[in-house]
Amino acid sequence: MARREADRAPQPGRSVAGTNLEFTRSHNRRVVLDTVRRLGPVSRAEIARETALTNQTISNIVEELEQAGFLLPGAPKREGRGQPSIPYTINPQGAWSLGFHVDHSAIIAALVDLTGKPVAIREIPAQRPSPRRAAPALRQLADALIEEAGVPASRLLGAGVALPVRFGVGAITTAGPTTLPGWDDPDARQHIAEALEQPVQIENDAMAAAIGERLHGVARAIDSFVFLFLDEGLGAGVFLGGQPWRGASLNAGEIGHMIVVPNGKPCPCGNRGCLERYLSLSAAQEFLGDEEFLADAPGSPALSELDGAISAPVERWVEEAAPYLASAVNILESTLDPETILLGGLAPAGVLAGLIEKAMPLPMSVGSRSGRSLPRLMAGSVGHHTVVLGAASLPIFDEINPRFDVLLKH
Ligand SMILES: [Zn+2]
Repeated sequence: MARREADRAPQPGRSVAGTNLEFTRSHNRRVVLDTVRRLGPVSRAEIARETALTNQTISNIVEELEQAGFLLPGAPKREGRGQPSIPYTINPQGAWSLGFHVDHSAIIAALVDLTGKPVAIREIPAQRPSPRRAAPALRQLADALIEEAGVPASRLLGAGVALPVRFGVGAITTAGPTTLPGWDDPDARQHIAEALEQPVQIENDAMAAAIGERLHGVARAIDSFVFLFLDEGLGAGVFLGGQPWRGASLNAGEIGHMIVVPNGKPCPCGNRGCLERYLSLSAAQEFLGDEEFLADAPGSPALSELDGAISAPVERWVEEAAPYLASAVNILESTLDPETILLGGLAPAGVLAGLIEKAMPLPMSVGSRSGRSLPRLMAGSVGHHTVVLGAASLPIFDEINPRFDVLLKH
């Protein structure tokens, strides 16, 4: 039964329909695009060295991608004797993508170019919108953004929707204050796709932010990492070997409900001592009382745009919460052995920086190995637009990321 439940649930990361573009999805093309994304500007010869594809294959693919508008040739560079080499980058104007961050009190929409840069952003208020109620609003926002940016609709890759949703896990789905109604319904995605007339992917906020980080952010060249996503709760987007790890029921990364204090504070999930009861913005809110407001979520003031200074009471909470962060790092490193752990989300940048600083020195784990090239714990994307930009990166990721699991099945 559990398996069937999972099969019927929305499948994050997969589209309902083909892309609007006449662009084949062959594995080699993805490999070339991904190489240019990571290393560009990069020449054909450099792509060949990186990918183990033949020069002829690279030439054919690069030519095709250039004609399709996905790659941009730079000025030829002469290196020693022989033909000058042409450096290629991703063409920002090659395609566009829509992202939506649906939350308890607002919907943020963004239109981004192929490099993930936002070209238009809008925000409207919305009270705990269901998919049915959100669908017409998303369409209106999409039309407004496309018109504002003057982007040809034929060059849209699709839309990503990110929200606090857990897929078909019973109690946790409905009990927590951090989830929205109706979005774990199998028809939700179809509903939105019909309204937008675009392929749509639905993803939880933490994983969407992690995919944005992998595609355009500090993790662009990091294959295995955990993106800790701090908002009202605490989630994580896990990348292993360059692929998002979603788990058997699509709920991997639900680390806010790891028990870190036996018989600790009661949690809406039914357990006691869950991590997010100590390390989350709702935990901070509880510590601070009603006076302070920390969240940088939709509908709240964009605190991350302030100078990052935090008040003395917030600093006291940071001191209290940081050991739980250190403990989470130890557990995640011991379980997954990632290259690094990133802390980001909807808290003000100053709070996240404070948490990272106060979590040091981190407890020993397999992560304390010598000769590391990256710190064990570092800052990832923060602020008001983290999730919507992650959402907009979903269709691009789907287009660019080499899918080795697909290769194995054929
Ligand atoms: Zn819990």
